[in-house]
Amino acid sequence: MKLSVYSVILAALGSLSTAIPAPEPRALPLVQSNQLRRVILRSELLDKGRILQDFAYATEGRNRYIGTPGHNATVNYLVDTLDALDYYDVEVQPLTVPSASGTLSISEVDYEVAPMTFTAEGTVSGPIVLVSNLGCNAEDYPTEVSGNIALISRGSCTFATKAINAKVAGAIGTIIYNNVEGLLQGTLGEAGDYAPTVGISLADGQTLIASLANGAVIAHLDVDLSEILTYNVIAETKGGDKENVLAVGAHTDSVQAGPGINDNGSGSIGILEVAIQLSKFSTNNAVRFGWWSGEEEGLLGAEHYVSTLSQDERDKIRLYINFDMIASPNFVFEIYDGDGSAFNLSGPSGSAEVENLWEDYFKNEVNIPTKPSEFDGRSDYGPFLDAGIAAGGLTSGADGVKTDEEVALYGGTAGEIYDPNYHTARDTLENLNVGVWVQLTKGIAHAVASYGRSFETLPAKMKANEKREVHTFNRKGGKWLY
Ligand SMILES: [Zn+2]
Repeated sequence: MKLSVYSVILAALGSLSTAIPAPEPRALPLVQSNQLRRVILRSELLDKGRILQDFAYATEGRNRYIGTPGHNATVNYLVDTLDALDYYDVEVQPLTVPSASGTLSISEVDYEVAPMTFTAEGTVSGPIVLVSNLGCNAEDYPTEVSGNIALISRGSCTFATKAINAKVAGAIGTIIYNNVEGLLQGTLGEAGDYAPTVGISLADGQTLIASLANGAVIAHLDVDLSEILTYNVIAETKGGDKENVLAVGAHTDSVQAGPGINDNGSGSIGILEVAIQLSKFSTNNAVRFGWWSGEEEGLLGAEHYVSTLSQDERDKIRLYINFDMIASPNFVFEIYDGDGSAFNLSGPSGSAEVENLWEDYFKNEVNIPTKPSEFDGRSDYGPFLDAGIAAGGLTSGADGVKTDEEVALYGGTAGEIYDPNYHTARDTLENLNVGVWVQLTKGIAHAVASYGRSFETLPAKMKANEKREVHTFNRKGGKWLY
């Protein structure tokens, strides 16, 4: 049978087309700060903020709290968006977070309690016994504490110290009352041998103390534990030097009270938008983005992530930069005080240099005044500092109170906190300062571009055996340690 010319050509074409190698990936231009900043758009931040808010409002709780559909939708959205870029290796890291609910009732009256993270569970009943002083020493605990429920003031030492002292003294339950207004939301920091331990407000603490003066007070304390499965998302550039990594992070979870669009939709989306736009460029160093869960429960996602890194992997991270709340309505422009010049609390070598990078950028490139922000480890950079990794970050402020001096710099309202909607249902897209959000996201882009190109402005890489600074902080995310 004669082959037609036509089929020969087709056959040849067929073999030809299979023989042609896949086209070389288009060579991307090396990232440059001004080019990366130019493609950070207000409209993109707003659109993505709307998406997160819609996730929250599609749920019964109207929030993006860990383990809920609102938070899981956030995680899925990040993964889908990053995967579609085909520029990152994307990893979803599961972790379980302890969660507790509790009740305290006394003579048929219910008191609001906040079980401490890492508390034991249990149902206990017995007289309340007031502990002397602040319960930081064994001598503060009268013998009557044994078999009963200890009532202790907040102050001076960690909640864990108080909870352990109470347990050693034989307490079957521990109630710690606040020493400032409001419900005490605390963490014991890590798992340990505690009785069921809860925080209450100062007002309720004073009520209980007054009742004790009139005779025995029998309390029923019930703490139930559960575990919440949640997820970190980590995305690292396929390109760039994997031995020298810039890590960039923000937390994805909200508190239960609201959708968490400034805290921390703003930071999550800020780094997402930088990650998306970075995919138009190449980098010399690897850039690793991390979206952490469980921040509000005590930096649990970031802590888990750092705990899974070997020392060798930790040493590859030249710098971690963190973004938590970058669109506050009563804003300031703050840079983490990595050199300790303002608050006398400095970070590992490299933390001062990144602070300098941003001081220089805001002053000389965009002419925006900045202030140092206390390097207190209160957000997800805490676990990185604990591991001796240099860190930095930008924020527009959380629950700090704005001063007259800051009003002179930025406008706004003195005597009011930076985000009056902090940890409330009013933390919505409508209540953000979008101009601030854009400027701080461009600040992220500047650091990502600068360090994506080179770490030459940072001190030499730390050696595994070099001495690392260790800090103790008073807060982990939304929870107090003492
Ligand atoms: Zn936050």
